[in-house]
Amino acid sequence: MKFLYASGQRPLDGYTVKRGIGCGGFGEVYFGVSDSGKEVALKCIRQNLDIELRGINQCLNLKHPHLVHLYDLRKDAQGENWLIMEFVNGESLHAILHRFPQGVPHDLVGQWFQQLAAAVHYLHDNGIVHRDLKPANIFIENGLVKVGDYGLCKFIAGSQHQEQTQNIGTVHYMAPEMSTGNYNRQVDIYAAGIILYEMLTGKVPFDGESAGEILMKHLTARPDFSMVPPPFVAILDKALHKNPMLRHGTMAELGKELAAATGPRDSEPAPAANVAASWQSLGRTPASLPPPPSPSGLAVTEVHNSRSRVAQISTMLLAALVLALLMSMGWALVFQRGDWRALAPTFFLSAVCSWACLIPGRLWTTVVDDSWQRRLVLMSLGLAVGLFALWLDGNPLPLPWEPNGTDSLAPAPRTLSETRHPFYSALYPENHTLPVIAGWLSYFGLMFLVLRWWKDVEQQRAQRFSFHAFLATAFWAFILLFLLPTAHERQIGFSTMVLTSAIVQAVSPCKQPAPPRGKRLRLRYA
Ligand code: ATP
Ligand code: MG
Repeated sequence: MKFLYASGQRPLDGYTVKRGIGCGGFGEVYFGVSDSGKEVALKCIRQNLDIELRGINQCLNLKHPHLVHLYDLRKDAQGENWLIMEFVNGESLHAILHRFPQGVPHDLVGQWFQQLAAAVHYLHDNGIVHRDLKPANIFIENGLVKVGDYGLCKFIAGSQHQEQTQNIGTVHYMAPEMSTGNYNRQVDIYAAGIILYEMLTGKVPFDGESAGEILMKHLTARPDFSMVPPPFVAILDKALHKNPMLRHGTMAELGKELAAATGPRDSEPAPAANVAASWQSLGRTPASLPPPPSPSGLAVTEVHNSRSRVAQISTMLLAALVLALLMSMGWALVFQRGDWRALAPTFFLSAVCSWACLIPGRLWTTVVDDSWQRRLVLMSLGLAVGLFALWLDGNPLPLPWEPNGTDSLAPAPRTLSETRHPFYSALYPENHTLPVIAGWLSYFGLMFLVLRWWKDVEQQRAQRFSFHAFLATAFWAFILLFLLPTAHERQIGFSTMVLTSAIVQAVSPCKQPAPPRGKRLRLRYA
């Protein structure tokens, strides 16, 4: 293997290369030392690759005992990017599997998989999908699992060059939905299922002569479970389901099922002697005995995370309520010349609309650019808001037992109370053809359907407040006003949606701003 840098060279200020370790899909990896003597792994990320460096930036502050720690991302004098990370003085799971063609001992499978699940669950909790989970990216150092290469997002999905360019080692672990380009953390659960299958049997479930053949098997073939020990069959069958919705909901869930299958012995901290014996059966003598794994750690982290998520959502909802009150008062004062009649509906509706965006937005933890399912869920919530608006506006809900219930099924009556500017009347003739209920439902239903509200709630969004998103909301809120019957309803509809956009963005936490545009690399993966 030919490395660009030889021992003693300093491609980066502050670091000296000691030796080349290996070469992967991104470039070379070197073992090096910093000027102060710290041992590091230096990964050169070649510029002719499809890599979104923003993904790495988002991972630089993640800390987990089972993740390879990323120290920094730096540029050298030639403009090449270097990832400086923890040097793992161990073996990759790929190398271990190579030496054990019949699979690794079951007690080690249980321990290692728990640690892998904990690391990937932590990534998911932080909104990161690994996308390249495979044994070559999993290291075992003194019995401790370390997952690497997270945050290095290659643009593999949907590429017409995929077959020629995709590393065949990666294709074995690729979930069927990867090829559609629309995927989420379930791809990691699928990859973890393949890794578990391989650890148990020594073989991957889908193999073939070409990447295309393997991909086709991922899409259509059922794995052969005849070599899998019975307690693991149901777990693998679920984790490897073609439909991502039918796999385990979270990595922690998969880890827990595995802990139950490997029996109480593996769910208790393993006695050091046991671990040493298993480790020696792999032909290794660990420098120090592995610390006891903590399978219960997963459950504790999960409870803690769900508690802190509930606390975070409650704080956000409360903040939305306060902001809705202040903003609707400000709106009434400035734009409605102190006409307080619209204050109550604007406040209640903007609070309810913000909650309708914030609650599902926070529950959807994965980063998805567009999704019809999400749009439809939001539209249903919009329809519910429409009914609430109808009721707040003093219209009866069309309930069969209500005597006046059918009033809202008729168009709004013409009133002479509105004196309107002729230009405004020409632009927006009063809507006396559409039933009042249809006006409210279609206005809020469409407002929730046309915009990707979850993007305003995502932690990984580029900036906390996007003026662009705010303008888009104002644009649609204005365009759809023709659906509402009179000026009063239009005032309420427009102010509600504009305030909602501001409130949702203001109260949703934004974890890490993206680096400036010029720093992003989005190049070909060739
Ligand atoms: P891919 O690019 O798809 O991840 P890969 O994992 O085979 O493929 P690299 O990640 O570039 O390739 O790794 C190249 C070599 O460097 C591998 O042998 C790997 O074991 C080793 N390596 C990578 N990161 C580290 C690290 N932090 N510490 C020690 N060795 C590492
Ligand atoms: Mg790698």
